[in-house]
Amino acid sequence: MEYRTLGKTGLRVSALSLGTSPFGGVFGEVEFEACKRCLDTALDWGINFIDCSPFYGLTKAETMLGRTLRGVAREKYWLATKVGRTGEADFDFSAARVTRSVDESLARLGVDFLDIIQCHDIEFGDLNQIVEETLPALREVVKSGKARFVGITGLPLRVFRDVIARAEVDTILSYCHFCLSDTTLETLIPTLQSREIGVISAAPLAMGLLTRGGAPGWHPAPESIRDACRHAAQVCAQRGTSIERLAVQFALNDPDIATTLVGSSRSEEIEQNARWAQEPLDEELLSEVEAVFAPIKNQTWPSGRAENDD
Ligand code: NAD
Repeated sequence: MEYRTLGKTGLRVSALSLGTSPFGGVFGEVEFEACKRCLDTALDWGINFIDCSPFYGLTKAETMLGRTLRGVAREKYWLATKVGRTGEADFDFSAARVTRSVDESLARLGVDFLDIIQCHDIEFGDLNQIVEETLPALREVVKSGKARFVGITGLPLRVFRDVIARAEVDTILSYCHFCLSDTTLETLIPTLQSREIGVISAAPLAMGLLTRGGAPGWHPAPESIRDACRHAAQVCAQRGTSIERLAVQFALNDPDIATTLVGSSRSEEIEQNARWAQEPLDEELLSEVEAVFAPIKNQTWPSGRAENDD
């Protein structure tokens, strides 16, 4: 496993990391034994960064992850979770709520501290509140020793530009913007690097779009993107490989991205991804697939308040 430095945090994170939204049943029902196998497989393969949120499965993912972490030495992994998003349409970025949320997460996860605490999907909030109230409250959490670093997450890249211009953040977590069909995260990298902000990229399989099974019903992508993904999957199959393999290898190929979170509740997939991470990218196949994506390249979907969207 390759390790990269996560900006000013100095954390040496595995290039491939573990997203645990599937532990909350986001991609289908899941049992404890399956999640435990996922965690053990990830650690065995050198994955050392784990991301969660109280939102995933409405606290189920944190509870499940906490159970799987029981008995695992705390120094074996870096742990990140989030505050602010409590439901599909429920957000509360107030200082009081996010401070309480950290304590609730620590209890569910069964740990004394978090490595990174992140404001979840800030495009749904008032960015002035994030800058003036939420981030200062999380700095207090850091002072109390319950977390080490503070980050922000979201879909529209614009929210990162806006907030980092006005506040100190240690990491950003962007999703679906560095994958085969969308590489717009690259436009933000020089700014992030100049500020030494750690770059976490999530969902290189575009939350299931870039898989042979296709995206789950709740996926927000329009039909044009879904069609292109199905076509790209066929091209990979015709070349005797899978879209997942190309997608994972592509995402891990950029050294400016410290870590890429892939979600799974299937240990076989985690092992497969870790193996793929060690192989070279098939540049010829990549060109073919990029041609398929050319008509919809960098297209995305709306998220959050209109004033915060790109
Ligand atoms: P993803 O792109 O990682 O795709 C996950 C899906 O791909 C699951 O259905 C999984 O079973 C499948 N998969 C994984 N490896 C596979 C393989 N080898 N073969 C076939 N299928 C495979 O999407 P995700 O899980 O939504 O994103 C990764 C993580 O990033 C999340 O779990 C979460 O921790 C984080 N994330 C954060 C935000 C945010 O903060 N707003 C948004 C999205 C994701």
